Amino acid sequence: MAHDTLDRLILDHIARSDPEVASIVAAEAERQEHTIELIASENHASPAVMLAAGTCMTNKYAEGYPGRRYYGGCEHHDKVEQLARDRAKELFGCKFANVQPHSGAQANTAVFMSIMQPGDTFLSLVLKDGGHLSHGMNLNFSGIFYKPVHYPLHYDKDHPEHEQIDYDAVRQVALETKPKAILCGYSAYPRVIDFARFRQIADEVGAVLMADIAHIAGLVAAGVHPSPFPHAHVVTTTTHKSLRGPRGGLIMTNEEELNKLINRNVFPGVQGGPLMHIITAKAVAFGEALRPEFQAYQQQVVKNARALAAALQKHGYRITSGGTDNHLMLVDLTAKSDDLTGKDAEKWLEGAGIITNKNGIPDDPRPPMITSGLRLGTPATTTRGFTEPEMERIGAWIDRVLSAGLKGESELAAESDKVRSEIRALCERFPLPHATLETA
Ligand SMILES: *Cc1c(COP(=O)(O)O)cnc(C)c1O
Repeated sequence: MAHDTLDRLILDHIARSDPEVASIVAAEAERQEHTIELIASENHASPAVMLAAGTCMTNKYAEGYPGRRYYGGCEHHDKVEQLARDRAKELFGCKFANVQPHSGAQANTAVFMSIMQPGDTFLSLVLKDGGHLSHGMNLNFSGIFYKPVHYPLHYDKDHPEHEQIDYDAVRQVALETKPKAILCGYSAYPRVIDFARFRQIADEVGAVLMADIAHIAGLVAAGVHPSPFPHAHVVTTTTHKSLRGPRGGLIMTNEEELNKLINRNVFPGVQGGPLMHIITAKAVAFGEALRPEFQAYQQQVVKNARALAAALQKHGYRITSGGTDNHLMLVDLTAKSDDLTGKDAEKWLEGAGIITNKNGIPDDPRPPMITSGLRLGTPATTTRGFTEPEMERIGAWIDRVLSAGLKGESELAAESDKVRSEIRALCERFPLPHATLETA
């Protein structure tokens, strides 16, 4: 790493007062720099976003909302929070935005409190089929204080179209269970979501429609995936996944009364003081997402996902639902070998410098800590500049590592060494945004 990069300057500064922490962060910077990041929920935020999160805005208590704070001295914090809200509204085409949720799960908690009473029934996709743990997992607040019911995802290897949301089945379960709220938006779903169809079903049973676009927010902002507005009554998202901002959450709606409830349930309902440095970085990220380059970026994210899925299919892997419309795909490893598990694949690939996560496939016979699948996404690799030819190479690397792993430990060790050095060479040609920023 060159000595005049911003990254180096910051680390040198931290090292002067805390070499122990600085060396950990430096090792992480090195890991990110020289590995291929295929975790679908991760990205590399821009230098401006990262630096904004590192400013003096962290020093302030700003409980309340712009113009109505519980602390003095909030003039500049009011301005930046208002700017973040305005940019979010412009980006997603809605009337109200709350930029204070510390995370996606916190955003969902505040919305649940706004649209349901404890004990009420809501309808969602179960975690193992691609839903999120805040959509009704038994150990999560959503499963502890509310009553989740689920719509199914069909599993049929011979008819991959059945691994998609079955809207007739959603309607059927909604009619039977009469939920207060219907949730759509997922953590591991590779196809377009039909928000208009969900709204029809919600209207038919008198439910509130909540769209959680945590994964696809960047695609939605760029018009690469249809918008949940005007269909959803309320929309939640994270800001750090495809949207490429700082780690955080965001809630949006067009409904004035609902917006009042949401504001009250974020603060003081769920949270105390807002993370003003993160809200500052959200403003920067939303500003970036409003630029034309962001649209081109998201278009490439989708092209790259298609190219990676096609490459893996060519090497004998099955992509659930037959492909992808968005930034991610689920790889069914059993098509390659019945002995191949998600757990082994994740570990073997990490050893070669490819970072992924194991994930259940629809109707997975293996438990969640083992699984038969991998979830792969392209937001991070697209940020570093990879296009279709690099996706082809990644597909080939994945196959080389997994095929070697199936043969045995020594084969795996030898192949991983080769692949790791090839990946290192490629990564050096595509440096991360923050590692190349000159200070001069
Ligand atoms: C990632 C995710 C969340 C939660 O985000 P955190 O910031 O980790 O709390 C919520 N919903 C969905 C669908 C997600 O994928």
